[in-house]
Amino acid sequence: MAKRDYYEVLGLQKGASDDEIKKAFRRLAMKHHPDKNQGDKAAEEKFKEINEAYEVLSDAKKRGLYDQFGHAGIDPSMGAGRGGGHGFHQGSAADFSEAFGDIFGDIFGGRGGQRQQAHNNRGADLRYRLDISFEEAFHGASKNIQFSAFSSCEPCKGSGAKAGSTKVTCTMCKGQGVVRMQQGFFAVQQTCPTCHGSGQIIKDPCTSCHGQGRIHKRRELAVKIPAGIDDGDRVRLAGEGDAGESGGTPGDLYVEIHVKANPLFTREGTHLHCEVPISFVTAALGGEIEIPTVDGKVKLKIPEGTQSDKVFRLRGKGFKSLRGSVVGDLLCKVSIETPVNLSDKQKTLLKEFDQLIKEGGTKHSPKASSWFEGVKRFFSSAS
Ligand SMILES: [Zn+2]
Ligand SMILES: [Zn+2]
Repeated sequence: MAKRDYYEVLGLQKGASDDEIKKAFRRLAMKHHPDKNQGDKAAEEKFKEINEAYEVLSDAKKRGLYDQFGHAGIDPSMGAGRGGGHGFHQGSAADFSEAFGDIFGDIFGGRGGQRQQAHNNRGADLRYRLDISFEEAFHGASKNIQFSAFSSCEPCKGSGAKAGSTKVTCTMCKGQGVVRMQQGFFAVQQTCPTCHGSGQIIKDPCTSCHGQGRIHKRRELAVKIPAGIDDGDRVRLAGEGDAGESGGTPGDLYVEIHVKANPLFTREGTHLHCEVPISFVTAALGGEIEIPTVDGKVKLKIPEGTQSDKVFRLRGKGFKSLRGSVVGDLLCKVSIETPVNLSDKQKTLLKEFDQLIKEGGTKHSPKASSWFEGVKRFFSSAS
């Protein structure tokens, strides 16, 4: 679904002041807040949209990027790094409550512990650096990776409570997950320090995970690398990051791709470049040479009178595009090699050849002739 313009979402014009943004957001957030519209899916979506728009427009840096590049300037998948943080992509009521709990906590009354818990206990996103060969990037591959991460504890199924035992309601917050303190006019709401927002306490912790609901261990995963992937691209494996504490949502795993350089080819987007030396005789007379492609050798016809640095384009011999069905080309540049270590006979023949070329006048070397003409003109006009 196409995203609506953030200003439009908040009912504002581009260039609205910070104060206007804040006011519009508060008004709309109150109207569409999930606590006031229980079970209303449309209101929930609306609320998320408002929340996301505000996250961007209230942040000078993000707003600047958005103004300049639109939605493309804001990459929601980059929201949260390791350790979580306020990923605005989650757009959940919990984010909202954390940012504005002091203002809104009271207006909306006690927040159920569940949502907050799910957010706070979310496992961390993880990064994995994966080196692949040039050919693997070209054809695509499946790679097994091994890494250490938190995994959901099996004996307690992530709950942290010993099998057969159940959690009990936290007495500190009476199961609310939050505690409130009066500070002057304001009621300050905080996550309950005893149960960390879950509203429940484990009386009898699982012995495997000591009540954490997760265990740090080695994991093995097969990662599918799509054909056409480039150096520095990331493959996101949703839910394969650290398991959340006490059954919280797991984080994501980002596999960062590093493609090894190839001695024959350099890549530019989907196109490939290579350089092939040819003899000056082949260049002059024409002929057929073998050139490498990632798929193997192919024959390339060199026309008579080919000049150095001429580029031949082989369509469809480049990389596949990750998006769409576009396939790049192989751009093959020929460089003419001057012969070295010549025998006396070869030298004699070349001298004879040179004599014949000179007798032929300018027609054998039009480039050199016009160049000398240019030089002549330059010096005569300078004097
Ligand atoms: Zn508590
Ligand atoms: Zn356990």
